[in-house]
Order: sequence, then structure tokens, then C-alpha cells
Amino acid sequence: MKRSELVRRLAMLEPFAAAEASLEQVGTPPELAAELLESALVRGDVEGRTVLDLGCGTGILAIGASLLNAAHVIGVEVDDAAVVVARRNAERLWANRLEFRVRDVTGWTEPAETVVMNPPFGAQSAHADRPFWEAALASATVAVYAFASRESRTFIERRAVARRARIEETRPVDWRFPATFPHHRKRAVELAVDLWILRPGPPS
Ligand code: SAH
Repeated sequence: MKRSELVRRLAMLEPFAAAEASLEQVGTPPELAAELLESALVRGDVEGRTVLDLGCGTGILAIGASLLNAAHVIGVEVDDAAVVVARRNAERLWANRLEFRVRDVTGWTEPAETVVMNPPFGAQSAHADRPFWEAALASATVAVYAFASRESRTFIERRAVARRARIEETRPVDWRFPATFPHHRKRAVELAVDLWILRPGPPS
């Protein structure tokens, strides 16, 4: 599937019904979701792989992985209302080999080949991203593809060293989204964000 076609389909997804600021419910813009997924696809980390989407929200990364022929996709999300939307979105795009689980990612260790995630950046509650990076590095057997705030660079580099994971790329991306929460004073919000690609180390 061409990237433009993937973007077109992902742009059809229903957004969060009532975005919850405390959970940092900001959906990944379709162009950036496609960039993450295609980066994984060309490296052989999506097609035929088991994929885990941590904090899947309304499902954009999980559904995109399914459309790109992942063998099986699990989306994990703490907010059951978001999962209702994610399931509807999966049906709408005819995504299959896909399941959603309502739970906190904290303590998740069930393995998957590839982890994809756009976790909270820790802007609302400090360190909200930490259980996500722990779960990602504990679960991925092949690769992790994740967005993170630029301010998290040192933290992620340290976690990678501690878990003996190799950082393959830290790619700055242009992240803009329409004002979502009351504390957003401008019409559009721009954030300094990186796309990370990591390869896990040996099991510990
Ligand atoms: N991955 C989606 C949503 C990103 S917003 C996308 O790319 O569009 C971050 C998501 O993480 C939200 O849906 C939020 O509800 C969820 N979340 C926040 N803390 C969580 C936790 N501890 N466990 C599971 N999900 C969590």
C-alpha cells in the first residue's frame, strides 16, 4: 500500500470522543502514524509480525499495522471509552487479526515481535511515559517504534543502556495538532518530538 493511501485511510478514523487531558489523549496525526508504520514496514518489522500497540487510544497505530499485514496485533489501552472507539474504527477500516485489551500498560511483559507506541509524553503528569518504556523494552523481541517528547531523550537513552537495547534511530519529526485541551491557548500546538527505533538487547 502506498503511503498516501495509508494516510488517506487512517484519516478516516473516528477521534477520541472526549479527549481526557490527564491521560494525554492526543491522537497521532495520520501522516506521522504512517511515517512510523512505514519505517517499521521497510525494516521488515510489520508484515507477518506480532505487533503490540501500547496505549493504543482510538487505534490508529494498531489498525495501521493490521492494514500493513501484521500477523497479529494487540492494542492495550486503559480507557474503555477509547477502546470502544478503537473497535469501531477497526471495523470501519476492515482491519483484522487485531484485538484490544482494556488495561493499564504498567507491568505488561507479554512478548510481541514489534512494539509501536505513542505514549503520553509526561506533559500532564510527570513520568507518565515511564511504564510504557519499561513495558516496551520488556516485551519487544525485534524492535520498538515510538514517539517521545524531545525532553525525554536522556531518559530513553539511559533506559536503553540499562536494558542493553540498541538505538537505531532518533528522528526529529514535525508534530502539530489542533488545540485539544483547555490549557492549549493557541489554535495549533507544536511539539518537539522524536521518532525512536530501538532493537532490544538479550533477554534479562
Ligand atoms: N496511541 C494512540 C493514542 C495516543 S494518546 C495514538 O497514537 O493515537 C496516549 C494514550 O495512552 C491515551 O489513549 C491514554 O488513554 C493511554 N494511556 C495513558 N496512560 C496509560 C496507561 N498507564 N496504560 C494504558 N494506557 C494509557
